[in-house]
Amino acid sequence: MEPIPIPFRFDPESFQINAPEELIPAVEAVIRSILPNAQFGTGRKLEVNVRWTDGQLIVQVVLDGLTEWSYTDREIQDERYDEDDRKRRARERVRLGVFTVIGEAYDVAPSPWGILTGVRPTKLVHKMIDRNFSSGELKRILGNVYGLVDEKIALLLDVAEKQQKFFHPNPNQPIGIYVGIPFCPTRCSYCSFAAYPLESHGHLLEPFFESLCVEIREIGVLLKELGVTVESVYLGGGTPTTIQGQKLTYLLELVRTWLVTSETCEFTVEAGRPETLSRETLHILADSGINRISINPQSMHDETLCRVGRQHTVRDVITAFNDARDVGIPMINMDIILGLPGEKLSHVRHTLDMIGDLQPDNLTVHSLALKRASRLRKSPEYLNIAQEQGEQMAHIAADYCSRWGLAPYYLYRQRYILSDLENIGYARPGTESVYNVQMMEERQTIIALGGGGITKLVAPDLSLVRLVNPKCPATYSQQLESSLPSKLCQIRQHLVV
Ligand code: SF4
Repeated sequence: MEPIPIPFRFDPESFQINAPEELIPAVEAVIRSILPNAQFGTGRKLEVNVRWTDGQLIVQVVLDGLTEWSYTDREIQDERYDEDDRKRRARERVRLGVFTVIGEAYDVAPSPWGILTGVRPTKLVHKMIDRNFSSGELKRILGNVYGLVDEKIALLLDVAEKQQKFFHPNPNQPIGIYVGIPFCPTRCSYCSFAAYPLESHGHLLEPFFESLCVEIREIGVLLKELGVTVESVYLGGGTPTTIQGQKLTYLLELVRTWLVTSETCEFTVEAGRPETLSRETLHILADSGINRISINPQSMHDETLCRVGRQHTVRDVITAFNDARDVGIPMINMDIILGLPGEKLSHVRHTLDMIGDLQPDNLTVHSLALKRASRLRKSPEYLNIAQEQGEQMAHIAADYCSRWGLAPYYLYRQRYILSDLENIGYARPGTESVYNVQMMEERQTIIALGGGGITKLVAPDLSLVRLVNPKCPATYSQQLESSLPSKLCQIRQHLVV
């Protein structure tokens, strides 16, 4: 069998770049997205020329004086573009040129997402919709300027259109709340979140919990004083249901008292690990007004779960799901991951068949992201299988969701993601998570409390200020007393303007 091109290679290649100075970081970033070990200064000559003639942008990229890519952009003359857009467009054309030339030179498969390497591709579409670009214009721009394939263009436009109804005229009324609980029963091998295993870090739970309660009260006092309403509350992590019993009841009551308002339509707990979901815990969630939880199997194969360091079984997932329905939690999301080690198409089909029997309201389909240091990234055998089958896995998942009546409503991408795909949230119409949309599109202020929480203060022009809580529970509790006053002050200043 022919080797399958993978979306990046580890050749220790070196390049001498001749480009306008302000474009060099962008050029290097594109090369590194294909050749993560690339060096710069000497080596293969990459020439990048950019010039403007009568309002038209002409870009040329040449590798070693032999391979050439060039483009004359007339569309940028449109009066809906301003000076910043023109600068951006020059950078985008250069990126597409470098991406094409280097991709061809190293036989790397072009990404279906073209040069859209960012986490939130839908943000670009919303920005263009704001400026009255029609769907036909958007299709052309996404294809010509950004190099997206038709399938991704259609997905992006479909998702963006569904999200428009969630946006409010004022990004600060209502707002969203995130509470980070950075503990988990064990750590999954692919995890990139703030997640400290209870066995090794359980002694940090008590001081963390006390500090979190302080932060909840203080932020709550401020929001009530300012009359700010809260649209959604999301407890994530980690696995918040690592906290159990009376402590969980107390925490949820505190959140309800201080952070939930009469306008809150969604109160979610990421209950990802089914082994934390006893009937007692599920009753606590239901009695506390939680109307959405996530139970995340990732795979419905016990061998895979064991291989990636999860402690639970498929049976635990099914029991937790049925119990959650029994106690009356109205909306249940499930997460799966495509491309887990050892899994092929048949595994994905089997996982989806089993999930189909449960009928969750939402399904989030993740494609495995191979982290920088991951052993898997260095295994050509794994990469070839993953690359060969990743796209088919995503199509299988999309087909199942469509048969169940679940439609895509949010998506995001990660670096070094399987087959250069994306993560997609599917939902039965009317059960979409408003928090997921607001958090992803960054058009609403989200105040984040707890470990690893990143507050995003969104201004009316959609610019952002981020305030970051430490991920480590020990650092969080040690620093809260000194850091909270300034956080409160920044939030106050932002919300009263
Ligand atoms: S359950 Fe989620 S947050 Fe916890 S270790 Fe696994 S991937 Fe990380």
